[in-house]
Amino acid sequence: MKTPVQVMKFGGTSVGDAECIARTAQIIAGASRMTPCVAVVSAMSGVTNRLIESAKIAQTGDAAHARATLEVLRAQHEAALVALVKSETNRAAVREKLEEVFAEGRRLCEGTALLRELSLRTLDAISSLGERLSAPLVAAALREQGLKSESVEATECIVTDEYHGGAEPLMDLTRAKSQARLLPLLANGAVPIVTGFLGATSDGELTTLGRGGSDYSATILGAALDAAEVIIWTDVEGVLTADPRLVAEARTIPVISYREAAELAYFGAKVLHPKTLKPVVQAAIPVWIRNSFAPERLGTKITPEGQSIGGGVKALTAIRDVTLISVGGPGIVGLPDVVGRTFSTTAELRADVLLISQSSSQNDICFILSAADAQKTVEALRKEFAEDLKHEKVEHITVDPNIAVVAVVGENMRGTRGIAGRTFSAMGRENVNIIAIAQGSSESNISFVIEEKDVKPALLALHREFALSQPQS
Ligand code: ADP
Ligand code: ASP
Ligand code: MG
Repeated sequence: MKTPVQVMKFGGTSVGDAECIARTAQIIAGASRMTPCVAVVSAMSGVTNRLIESAKIAQTGDAAHARATLEVLRAQHEAALVALVKSETNRAAVREKLEEVFAEGRRLCEGTALLRELSLRTLDAISSLGERLSAPLVAAALREQGLKSESVEATECIVTDEYHGGAEPLMDLTRAKSQARLLPLLANGAVPIVTGFLGATSDGELTTLGRGGSDYSATILGAALDAAEVIIWTDVEGVLTADPRLVAEARTIPVISYREAAELAYFGAKVLHPKTLKPVVQAAIPVWIRNSFAPERLGTKITPEGQSIGGGVKALTAIRDVTLISVGGPGIVGLPDVVGRTFSTTAELRADVLLISQSSSQNDICFILSAADAQKTVEALRKEFAEDLKHEKVEHITVDPNIAVVAVVGENMRGTRGIAGRTFSAMGRENVNIIAIAQGSSESNISFVIEEKDVKPALLALHREFALSQPQS
């Protein structure tokens, strides 16, 4: 039997200012009157970017500038505190907590400025300060509503490997630690407010799960606590048929499968961190995506099997911050291990390859990865193939950053005739040039590479072609 715990996560915009935090606290309070709740919170919106900016400024040696950036954040959190908490005594206790975090931030920036060196470990420590500031504010807002609540740092719950900037949870240890820390609070009738985005190694060293990683924190905790469900509260009404910033007529998808949602997340639908569904698949815990600005709406339910529309397209997505790398030349035809060596290199760097395409004459392998991983990958490939480049077996390793990948997602697309044809005819009509295509073995997506400037017209044309603004039955 699952314990009826509900894990809720609130993203940056849902805790963006005092008014948003108060609304979030109301949602948590409402739910926790019905069932035990654990909330996971992101930093106030924009704060993580600012913190990373301060870290980079500190790296140049400019400690005063980094401190000034932290001061701006201090004023922002102080203003939220004053607006949320009425009594000065209650404020003082929270302020003390916030001040400790800011003092730590200042020390980290000063150390960085002194050494002019920013290790991944220090970057993690600085970039995660935002969650350590927002969690005490949300807990205070809940106490203002008469509930028991306490902020909890996820270093006390989520145990990860040592991969700074994109750490992976160690689930057995996480389970034991999360239950030991959170269940007594729940038993005591309190609502734990856990910092998203971060964890710690088994030695207690702080790590982060990657940008946008608070979604992942929520499902990690959901799995660790055998939650009945995980609700991700954000600023849109669920998973939509396309990014609403690009396709105005995009519509909420009421039910979607883990697989479809994971494909969308993997190919850039920002509403979900790509790894979000991984922890909950085994226990089949449903995940909801809901709008904290319109809590009366149901949003999207992500379930193991979703809701069949008899095969066909459910949604579109595009990922822009990507780079195309190609390794090739006529000489690689006779080199059986080029593919192996190329992808061992990317694996060693933990660079996520989004799409691979190889020409039939085998003289060109091209693949797409996140722009952030491009430079280190190209450097490593040039090293790996140095001898072959010298002897012209491999003629070139080239890089194209001005591209994007579009993915057309739906269950059982391979079994539905004509989808690829319609997709590419629509692109032809829009004069969108297709650089590479991958349908791969996955039945649930067709993805292809286009020039970055074509993303919006491509999405609009496909949304129309597959009538995605009509309710699907
Ligand atoms: P949070 O701060 O709550 O984590 P994010 O900004 O990370 O929120 O994600 C929500 C945003 O994702 C939305 O505002 C929307 O612009 C974008 N988005 C991209 N693709 C989709 C999609 N298919 N459905 C819903 N939102 C999407
Ligand atoms: N605050 C972190 C970020 O901006 C994590 C998150 O919001 O999910 O990346
Ligand atoms: Mg997010």
